[in-house]
Amino acid sequence: MHEPYINYGRQDISAADVEAVVDVLRSDYLTQGPAVPAFEQAVAEHCGVPHAVAANSATSALHIACMALDLGPHDLLWTVPNTFVASANCARFCGADVDFVDIDAHTRNISLQALRDKLDAGRRDGRLPKILVPVAFAGQACPMAEIRALAEEFGFRVIEDAAHAIGGRYRGQPVGCGEWADITIFSFHPVKIITTGEGGMAVTRNSQLAARMGRLRSHGITREPGLMQGEIDGPWHYQMLELGWNFRMTDIQAALGRSQMQRVDEFVARRTALADRYDALLADSGLALPQRDTESHSAWHLYAIGWNEELSGLTRGEAYDRLHAAGIGVNVHYIPVHLQPYYRRLGFHPGQFPNAEAYYARTLTLPLYPTLSCAQQDRVIAELQKLLHP
Ligand SMILES: *Cc1c(COP(=O)(O)O)cnc(C)c1O
Repeated sequence: MHEPYINYGRQDISAADVEAVVDVLRSDYLTQGPAVPAFEQAVAEHCGVPHAVAANSATSALHIACMALDLGPHDLLWTVPNTFVASANCARFCGADVDFVDIDAHTRNISLQALRDKLDAGRRDGRLPKILVPVAFAGQACPMAEIRALAEEFGFRVIEDAAHAIGGRYRGQPVGCGEWADITIFSFHPVKIITTGEGGMAVTRNSQLAARMGRLRSHGITREPGLMQGEIDGPWHYQMLELGWNFRMTDIQAALGRSQMQRVDEFVARRTALADRYDALLADSGLALPQRDTESHSAWHLYAIGWNEELSGLTRGEAYDRLHAAGIGVNVHYIPVHLQPYYRRLGFHPGQFPNAEAYYARTLTLPLYPTLSCAQQDRVIAELQKLLHP
């Protein structure tokens, strides 16, 4: 008998979520109604920040965050190679250049040593970044306090890519609290911690950045008379102050997001319990398990292990194929961004960021999501053990 396929991630939609969406469908506004500000407020309250700006994806949120920080041609944005392409692409959307900082082999997040070395070299060469995008890989916050200190010393701004990390904590505060990053970005893609189908959000303590991101997600248009130039024709008047986009989230999505937000702590608690269970059940497996960090509580978007080819006699690719054949939807996070053909054409090449490349060569993401049952998790482990001890 064939057991059902277990994907690496999936959403958890409740009856209340469905009802929230249906309510919007029956209401007066499908977009630009009250659901978006209500969702923004729920996320802002969760993070303990005054401002949240919803967008139609985290990619869009990264884009308007860069624009609000005036990133443009000849400017430089740094991020890590061990991330989704959007963390780097946001700079390219603005015509800016991208460079990468290698990861720490153990935390899989940005290496503080590599960052400091690169900043020192950048200062010597007169080529410092305007923006750094540290990525909270798998839901675990980066060393944000140290990054903030470097931002002050070297004069760059920080956009924290917390696409994986809503509901996580760092130094006793929620990820996105605004203490260390200028702007924090969340993603609401269905595999992430909470979902709106597609969607993202930028949170910040800075009211000017929030107002500008709010305009940039809607064509660069304002309806505030105080911001308008020259004569105002009448109450219908709006002005386009700069070139923006249509990156708006719909009320349909926001209603789902707000409803999901009520369970964010529950989702993270369940993910944490499953991650603890993987840790316990794989402790003697010979696989490299995710490193725990005393400063932060991961939101556990991903549980990524390091495959052990020596022990199993199977390459990571063979293990991936065998697990898929057994109905276990393992995945790989991430192909180093600098090795993508587009970035290779910009001059990047293999060998430049050895920790990210070595990590990529071994990594496998195991299934992890709130509705994964212990029995399903046991199946994942049993299939892994079959490969490790044939
Ligand atoms: C998912 C993801 C994004 C992009 O999110 P979208 O909402 O799909 O645009 C950006 N950065 C990281 C690290 C991600 O995992």
